[in-house]
Amino acid sequence: MSGTATQPLYIGSEIYRGSTYGPSHPLAIPRVTICTDLCRAMGWLDDTQFRTAPLARREDVERFHDPAYVTALFRAEASQRVSEADRARFQIGAEGNPVYAEIYRRPMTSAGGVMLACRTVLAGGIVHCPGGGTHHGRPARASGFCYLNDPVLGLLTWLEAGLDNIVYLDIDAHHGDGVQDAFHNDPRVLTISVHEDGRWPFTGRVSDRAGGAARNLPVPEGFNDTEMRCLMQEAVLPLVEARRPQAIFLQCGADSLLEDPLARLGLSNNAYWEVVEAVMPLTPRLVVTGGGGYNPYTVGRCWAGVWATLNGIVIPDHTTAAAEAVLRGLVYNRAAGRNPPEHWFTTMRDSPREGPVRDEVRRVAAMALREEVFG
Ligand SMILES: [Zn+2]
Repeated sequence: MSGTATQPLYIGSEIYRGSTYGPSHPLAIPRVTICTDLCRAMGWLDDTQFRTAPLARREDVERFHDPAYVTALFRAEASQRVSEADRARFQIGAEGNPVYAEIYRRPMTSAGGVMLACRTVLAGGIVHCPGGGTHHGRPARASGFCYLNDPVLGLLTWLEAGLDNIVYLDIDAHHGDGVQDAFHNDPRVLTISVHEDGRWPFTGRVSDRAGGAARNLPVPEGFNDTEMRCLMQEAVLPLVEARRPQAIFLQCGADSLLEDPLARLGLSNNAYWEVVEAVMPLTPRLVVTGGGGYNPYTVGRCWAGVWATLNGIVIPDHTTAAAEAVLRGLVYNRAAGRNPPEHWFTTMRDSPREGPVRDEVRRVAAMALREEVFG
């Protein structure tokens, strides 16, 4: 591959290697580095398409985040502790948002990577930034393992460059609440979130339109590949096509996969790759990020396959020997990690998880297209 401007770029960083939220936290696991290592081991990524995410500048982050909160994150990393006042005010060291070794630099790197991604595609193009996607971050507090909200910062980069017709599509198992709230009532950004019904943060009902700027598609437990295809064809793609967006930001949290320990949806990685393939022709500017995802084997294979899809690479059923070695080198302390099935090592592509399309899925799709929603 030669590094021409029309080729997709991959933005990663070594800061994620060995970084952990602590041994018993769902983010004890490697994710971005597994994706990067798998892409290289499959022969899909060389240095011409790779960029290292820069640390964000404080002034860029403070377009959305409270400077006192950013300072508190810096202080927490420097001291590796948090005062009671900061814990109470900013939710640092509370509610699943621990103080950890890179608590300032890692979110600042994710934010820097996503903002670079959004700047890079201004002239047109595609960027994959698997370290991004922290969609729960709030202006002045941590939430849901997210400290900064890098999608919001990326979308602001586009808006400030003059784009005024943007779609944010979020297929993480959890509602993209932080992004939706940031653009509440803003006609320039349509946020669309597909997420598990009744799961934390318990927002994003189908009737929640964020003043007209959002569509929410809550889906039931066991949500399968056929149902995702139905939702895309009957609701998401018509909504996006009707807007003809100047740019699409796709948050690909991998916790909607069947094997994820924090949600109860049932997708295979084929469904993710189909979504990516479906949105690619709908816009001249596409940024794809990660998000949630708490099984390192399935997250790594899913996000690596996203990169292959963005490059038009046909994903083989089986891993190369080098990719298999990456997967076999993983340590995953949850129950599912003690006896990982062989296909987590030897295949990239899951078996498809097709199934019946339940009425509630069709109903949600139909409601998302309605002009007005009551109740
Ligand atoms: Zn999630």
